[in-house]
Amino acid sequence: MLRQHKLGEADRIITFLTAEHGLVRAVAKGVRRTRSKFGARLEPFAHVDVHFYPGRNLDVITQVHSLNAFSDLIVADYGRYTTACAVLETAERLAGEERAPAQHLHRLTVGALEALAEDRRDRQLILDAFLLRAMSSAGWMPALSVCARCASPGPHRAFHVAAGGAVCVHCRPAGAATPSVGVLDLMEALARGEWDHVLLATPSQRRQATGLTAAHLQWHLERQLRTLPLIERQAPHSLIERPASEGAARTDVPGAGVAVTETA
Ligand SMILES: [Zn+2]
Repeated sequence: MLRQHKLGEADRIITFLTAEHGLVRAVAKGVRRTRSKFGARLEPFAHVDVHFYPGRNLDVITQVHSLNAFSDLIVADYGRYTTACAVLETAERLAGEERAPAQHLHRLTVGALEALAEDRRDRQLILDAFLLRAMSSAGWMPALSVCARCASPGPHRAFHVAAGGAVCVHCRPAGAATPSVGVLDLMEALARGEWDHVLLATPSQRRQATGLTAAHLQWHLERQLRTLPLIERQAPHSLIERPASEGAARTDVPGAGVAVTETA
């Protein structure tokens, strides 16, 4: 579950990131009553199997089964929580239109939340690896080992977000960053999950990789926002064409807005 907001006295609208149907918004009736049949299963970051049926405007949630309990571990620690919020927020923005299938993004999101919940490795490394992989999935992966402009093989020393990543000495635009040796390799290792390599990086290399990753993501998200028609997010999806149900949804975070569902 990604996000929720109140609807009337007792209901909530919940946004899920689902594998089969991408972003899905649906109504949880009575969820704010103390004896709701959904109990705590629709808390933020929850990874759930959700069933819906079509309502007049939004689908209505009929059943929720927890798939695992990592949401408890995430909300129990502020550092985990804020990092997980960043994961969900990015996942929601990269998922694009509602109902566009998002299998890969869903898998990456669940994997990142699990790794955070279990403190499997440094939080920032988990986040950076997720961001790079999610950008790769969206077609925004920065060039790292070849020049973004002329494709000449590296290693290259300059990095320019608008140019698309690493740039050679001939192509580098004014204002390109010059990260330390090893930083672009570290980013490549993060994207590939080569943790043995990643763990050899110095704190300075990690900080630079974090900065370049965030800058690259930010640039693409802002460009995407400028090109998205404002109206798009408001349009209610058609409920008529869809079969009546089933998706396993993962609920993720409130405030961050991504829950994931998969077809059971
Ligand atoms: Zn070049």
